[in-house]
Amino acid sequence: MKKYIGLFTLFQCLVFFAAAQDSSTVVKKGYIPTARIFELLYVPFDVPAGTTEIRVKESYDQMNVNVLNMGVYDSKGDQGITGFRGWSGGAKKEFFITEVAASTGYIAGKITPGTWNVLVYPSGIAPAGLNWMLEITLISGRHQKTFTARPAARQINAVPGWYRGDLHMHSLHSDGRRTVEELVAEAKEKKLDYIISTEHNTNAANLNWGKYNSGNLLIINGEEVTSTRYGHWNAIGLDTKTLIDWRYAPADHVIGKQIEKVHHDGGLAIINHPFYDKGDKTFKFDEQEFDGIEIWNGEWNALNAIALKWWDDLLRKGIRKIAIGASDTHKSSGSPNNLGSPQTVIYAQGLAKDAILEGLKRGKAYIAATHNVALQFTLEYAGKTVGMGEQLPENGTGKAIVHLTVTGCKNTVMTLIGNKGTMASRKIPADTETIHLTIDRDSSSYIRIEIRKEDQAMVALTNPVWL
Ligand SMILES: [Zn+2]
Ligand SMILES: [Zn+2]
Repeated sequence: MKKYIGLFTLFQCLVFFAAAQDSSTVVKKGYIPTARIFELLYVPFDVPAGTTEIRVKESYDQMNVNVLNMGVYDSKGDQGITGFRGWSGGAKKEFFITEVAASTGYIAGKITPGTWNVLVYPSGIAPAGLNWMLEITLISGRHQKTFTARPAARQINAVPGWYRGDLHMHSLHSDGRRTVEELVAEAKEKKLDYIISTEHNTNAANLNWGKYNSGNLLIINGEEVTSTRYGHWNAIGLDTKTLIDWRYAPADHVIGKQIEKVHHDGGLAIINHPFYDKGDKTFKFDEQEFDGIEIWNGEWNALNAIALKWWDDLLRKGIRKIAIGASDTHKSSGSPNNLGSPQTVIYAQGLAKDAILEGLKRGKAYIAATHNVALQFTLEYAGKTVGMGEQLPENGTGKAIVHLTVTGCKNTVMTLIGNKGTMASRKIPADTETIHLTIDRDSSSYIRIEIRKEDQAMVALTNPVWL
């Protein structure tokens, strides 16, 4: 008899479960001809009241050529960023959102009833076109406590000093291969003082960094604002909930407005890998609007050398941009883009978001290939000493002395560069060296240092001291 009661209870449970969870699936299909590449396509679907979970599955043909990026906007709208609920680009073929959880790259929270839109964006189309399908499943179940953001700590300490970190990286929240836990653990292992989270077109990671607050690693919010067509740039130092839109062209003349939003949060706008593709300039927005340029992305290579030349040409024209280096790491160690290689070392008034951004904004920063490489670079003139990002206070003539101490640079060559090119060059045979050079105070409008291996691979590169 006991057995039968057990079976009956199980049957009751199944009936109850079926009643509590109601689901329906809608299928949307379409065809995109080749000429429609890079056009935004919003696919609307209705979300009835009581829906607690949305699941979307994307499929399309000729996946070896066709690339269909994907994201979603809720009933608050798809025009601004208030309705933004996630973006996975070409990295995912399905996602879910509930009130408490979501796929990486997507934003958990209240499932607002009304019209939602899946945004699909083709960045590669075969000659025969692209046939796509979306299967959208809407589930109504019991309401759960809605997700609330856990912001990263803004300050670790208020001790002035040089802080090392990586300004550009990806996790599973966009097209990276690591979990955020793995990224944090590796940053600590590599003794980085700060990391800046820069997922493609989503702030999903930023909403949760507070989970990993610790006494020794500062995590700063950012976003890699990614337009496959017009180039990538990093918005760094954003508030937790800020999202910078990517859906515009240079001809729309809104890039300045977007960068204003970054500056409003105390952040900076940095052009990423400007020569991404075979040495052609892939960055199409007006560089005048931006604060800095990532001239060293991952392992030193020919494309970085072109970016460096472009930056130097701008400096010579009197257009000041901060130079940064970052890994743009996507995989775990073993790939050339290892976390912290290279790293940007910044002089800041403390290990705090505002202080790090302020130090970088002033150009008090150099790029080092690894954690072992360190520099001290100053200029002494008329009893005053200035460093990177600083300016000699007055015009004048006579001699100035460059002081440079390097560590971790065994068997390299140091070059002192000004606005007319190379001013001096010295071999560095030992791991640690101190060099003093005398220059004419009026011989250049700026000086900067490059340290390279014999094969020209970069070991360290500074921002300028302004004369
Ligand atoms: Zn990029
Ligand atoms: Zn990137």
